[in-house]
Amino acid sequence: MNIIPKPKSTQEYKGEFLLNSTTRIIVNLKEGPLLETAEYFAERVKLATGYELWISDNTFDHKENIIFFNLDDENTKFGKEGYSLEVRPTNITIRANTSSGIFYGVQSLLQLFPVQIYGNHANAGMKWSVPSVQIEDAPKYPWRGMHLDVCRHFYPKEFIKKYIDLLALHKMNVFHWHLTEDQGWRIEIMNYPQLTEIGAWRVDRSGIIWNERKIQQPGETADYGGFYTQQDILEIVDYAAKRCILVVPEIELPGHALAALAAYPEYSCTGGPFDVATGGYWPIVDVFCPGNENTFTFLEGILDEVMTLFPGEYIHIGGDEVNKANWGKCPKCQQRIIAEGLNDENELQSYFIKRIEKFVSSKGKKLIGWDEILEGGIPPEATIMSWRGIGGGIEAAKQNHDVIMSPTDYCYFDYYQGTPSSEPDAFPDSLLLLEKVYEYNPTPPDLTPAEKAHILGGQGNVWTEYMPTSDQVEYMVLPRMSALAEAVWSSGAEKDFHEFYERLNVHCRRLDELKVNYRPTD
Ligand SMILES: [Zn+2]
Repeated sequence: MNIIPKPKSTQEYKGEFLLNSTTRIIVNLKEGPLLETAEYFAERVKLATGYELWISDNTFDHKENIIFFNLDDENTKFGKEGYSLEVRPTNITIRANTSSGIFYGVQSLLQLFPVQIYGNHANAGMKWSVPSVQIEDAPKYPWRGMHLDVCRHFYPKEFIKKYIDLLALHKMNVFHWHLTEDQGWRIEIMNYPQLTEIGAWRVDRSGIIWNERKIQQPGETADYGGFYTQQDILEIVDYAAKRCILVVPEIELPGHALAALAAYPEYSCTGGPFDVATGGYWPIVDVFCPGNENTFTFLEGILDEVMTLFPGEYIHIGGDEVNKANWGKCPKCQQRIIAEGLNDENELQSYFIKRIEKFVSSKGKKLIGWDEILEGGIPPEATIMSWRGIGGGIEAAKQNHDVIMSPTDYCYFDYYQGTPSSEPDAFPDSLLLLEKVYEYNPTPPDLTPAEKAHILGGQGNVWTEYMPTSDQVEYMVLPRMSALAEAVWSSGAEKDFHEFYERLNVHCRRLDELKVNYRPTD
């Protein structure tokens, strides 16, 4: 058994199930998501085998050679995402309480086939056997996330789908889509068209070290970049939903907003003008002006459209790395500090986030921010994403806030994964080995049980300053995501890196079939 992430329990039996052209998938056709999962499975099988499996809901005529998806809400022992997978020579049964559980059972089933099941051309003469087994499985955490920064570099829609497929392969269930930055605004907003007409494009400084790039010069053309139309967004959200993946959009504020300010400089403290950053931009001084009431009208207008496009309950608003120097000099910001009875610019940031949180929650959504939003007081309903170590996450959990752990030391996949001299350029002076990711435990040991319950899970973050192509994203993400998947899905009691490594070698052959440019294991 070479399943990644490793299931809770596996019992092997004698014999095997042989899939052939007359194998049937049996589902309750009235269950929409279940039928979609059946179609997903049938499509994968068809690509690799050439067989077009029948999908039907009649169990009476066919008692053998069937793959039965048994969705029964009385299967409550499986929880929201658990499943059992029973393979016998006569048939296969996946049982779950929810359609997500069935989907994860399908992922495990696919990994029991020969690795060629992941191929995209029909393999004639292959024997499609599945060993007899009984698997019981459920995830350790409800939040198993992967982030992707599409702003430092833009990737086409087709790659976003491939990325989502790779998440699904690993039973990850959140795609955190980082859509706005100093270096590019990537989401079409109908009410503010210049966000993409201007904000999605920068002067091309490819080939020059990220932090040494000259800002845009007079007369230069900004033509490097791209953006997703609202139609693209809807398509991707739907694609992800069919794979049990929640898409969480991130709209950065008050900082990391230079691309937006290049399009609409009136919402800054100084009035601009600005150009979209061509590379490193630090310190982040040009940010939204919270002294200006129109800034909030602008941001709420954007968030209104964003919330319509993303039906999930979470909206990520960033909140990190704001330099407050301009707020200190801005008459409007200083007036706001006086009017609201705030002590300083840190509390002004807190005012900003709390006001946005109120708006987001008035629309029935939940706000997530980076751990900086703890500074100066945190909005009551906010969820914290802890990235500067785990201190922010611990503090937030103690204050009864939900927490997602993504500390740099374990979860930053822009870090080198081996000796820098033998690796492509990555974040300077960094290192995050596969083994360290594998050992990760998102729950800090010194929390009370009630505080531990606030740790929703973990997430890998993929900042793309050093990933100009989607091939490079794949190289940085895999196989570290395979290790992270095991850290957030599998129960940690009996972790054994060497045993994982052996399974990973088989898993890499699946990635070969899927044409993924992963980093070869040492
Ligand atoms: Zn201001």
